[in-house]
Amino acid sequence: MNKEIKQPVILGAGLVGTLMSIYLAQRGYKVRLFEKRPDPRKKDVERGRSINLALSNRGWKSLAEVGLEDTIAAMVIPMQGRMMHDQQGQLSFQPYGKEGQAINSISRSGLNELLLNTAEKEGVELFFNQVCLDLDHEHGRIKLSNIGQEHEVDSDLIIGADGAFSAVRTALMKTDRFNYSQYYLEHGYKELTMPPNPNGGFKMEKHALHIWPRGNFMLIALPNLDASYTCTLFFPFEGAPSFSSLRSEDEVLKFFQATFPDAVPLLPNLAKDFFDNPTASLVTVRCFPWVKNRTLLIGDASHAIVPFYGQGMNAGFEDCRVLNAMIDEFGGDWDRVLKNFQTHRKPDADAIADLALQNFIEMRDLVGDEGFLLRKKIEARLHALFPNRWIPQYSMVTFNENIRYSEALEIGNRQRTIMDAVMQQAGIAQSWEGMDFEGIVDQLRGNF
Ligand code: FAD
Repeated sequence: MNKEIKQPVILGAGLVGTLMSIYLAQRGYKVRLFEKRPDPRKKDVERGRSINLALSNRGWKSLAEVGLEDTIAAMVIPMQGRMMHDQQGQLSFQPYGKEGQAINSISRSGLNELLLNTAEKEGVELFFNQVCLDLDHEHGRIKLSNIGQEHEVDSDLIIGADGAFSAVRTALMKTDRFNYSQYYLEHGYKELTMPPNPNGGFKMEKHALHIWPRGNFMLIALPNLDASYTCTLFFPFEGAPSFSSLRSEDEVLKFFQATFPDAVPLLPNLAKDFFDNPTASLVTVRCFPWVKNRTLLIGDASHAIVPFYGQGMNAGFEDCRVLNAMIDEFGGDWDRVLKNFQTHRKPDADAIADLALQNFIEMRDLVGDEGFLLRKKIEARLHALFPNRWIPQYSMVTFNENIRYSEALEIGNRQRTIMDAVMQQAGIAQSWEGMDFEGIVDQLRGNF
C-alpha cells in the first residue's frame, strides 16, 4: 500500500532528529518535532555538558545538502592529525590522511542550535518539554507528557530520533520479533576543561586532536573556538587505576602527574573538575527491525556506538541523507522507502559499531607503538602511489563518504591480513622503502 505521508512527527530534537526535520521540511512536508528537554536556545535554560564532536565527511555532506556548508565552515576547527603525548611529555604528530584532509572539532550545543534555528526557518513546528512515554505503531499514536500533562498525537509517519535510550525503541521492543542488544564497555568517560592561556590563546597545537595513549586507558583533547579544549578521560570504572580507585583530590593529582605530566599544568581545575563532573558510560546498541508499519528509528535510537571512530553523529547524519535519497529513488512510495532504508543501512550501522570498538584499542594502545607507526607509514605510501587502489581504512571511513561503512570494514580486514604478512618480513623496518608496492596492492584486486 502506498499511502501519502501528510503529517510526519519526529521524536527527539537532538542532532539527527533536527537534521531529518530539515530534510523533510525542504521536501515540503509539514513536520512536527517533539523534544523532552526545554529549548536549549533559551538563555535561562541550564545548558547540557558542552561536549565538542569531530565532524567528518559523511556528516559534512549531509549538512551541505541542506545548505549549511558555509555556516558550518565558520564553526569548526580542522584537526589534521593526532598529536601524541608520551609519558615524558614528548610530542609526535600523525596526519589523519593526505594534505588538506582533516576532521573538524565542533561544539555540540552550537551545532544543535544552528539545526534548531534552521528547522524553524524551514517551517518545522518545534515542541519542547514533551517526553514521549509510549506509542502505538499500529495506529500511529504517540503518548507524550508535557510537564506532567499527558496527551496524544497522531501521525502517519513517526521517526524515533530519541537517542541511545530511545523511548520509541522501547515501545517497539514490546512487539513481536524485535531483536535488541546492548553492550556496555568496562570503561566510562569524564570531561575536563582546559581553559585558554591568560592572553586568550590556545595552550597546545590548535589543529590537532591530542591523545595521551596509556595502554588500557587514554586522555584526549579537542579544541574549541574560544581557545579552550574539552579533554575526555576514557578510563575503567573498576580496578587499579580506575574511576573507583581515585578517591581524593590528592590521589587524582598524583595519578595525573605520573601519567599525563605535561597536561597537569594546563588543567588548573583538574581535581575539582574530576569530582564535580559526571562519569558517564559507553554503550553499543544494536536492534532490528528499525521499521514497524510507519514507525522508523534513526541515529543513536537504532545504532548507538562508542565514540572512538568519531562517527556516531556522522552515521546519524548519513542516515538522513540516505533516507532522503531513497524518497527520491522510490518517488515518495514510503513503504518501499522504509523497507529499503533499513535493509540497506543495517549492515553499515553494524560495521561502524564494530569499527568503533576496534578503534578504541588502536587509540589507547597502538598509536604509540613503533610497529603500528611503521604499518601506518607503509599504508600511507601505498595510498600515495595507488590512491584509488589502496585507501587506508581510517580514510575510507572518515574521508570517503562514497564508500559504505560495511565496505570499509570488509576491505580494511583484507588490507590488515595483507599488512600482517608484510610486517612479518625480516628487517621490514629497514627494507620497506624498497618493497614491491604494486605487488602488495595487487593482492587487493577486485575490491575497487
Ligand atoms: P541524541 O544526540 O542523543 O539526541 C536525542 C534527543 O532525543 C535528545 O535531544 C533527547 O533529549 C531526546 N529524547 C530522548 N528521549 C526522549 C523522549 N522520551 N521523548 C522526547 N525526546 C527524547 N559522534 C561523532 O560523529 N563524532 C564525535 O566526535 C563524537 N564524539 C562523541 C563523544 C562522546 C563522549 C559521546 C558519548 C558521543 C560522541 N559521538 C560522536 C556520538 C554522538 O554524540 C551521537 O551519535 C549523536 O549525538 C546521536 O544523535 P541523535 O540525535 O541520534 O541522539
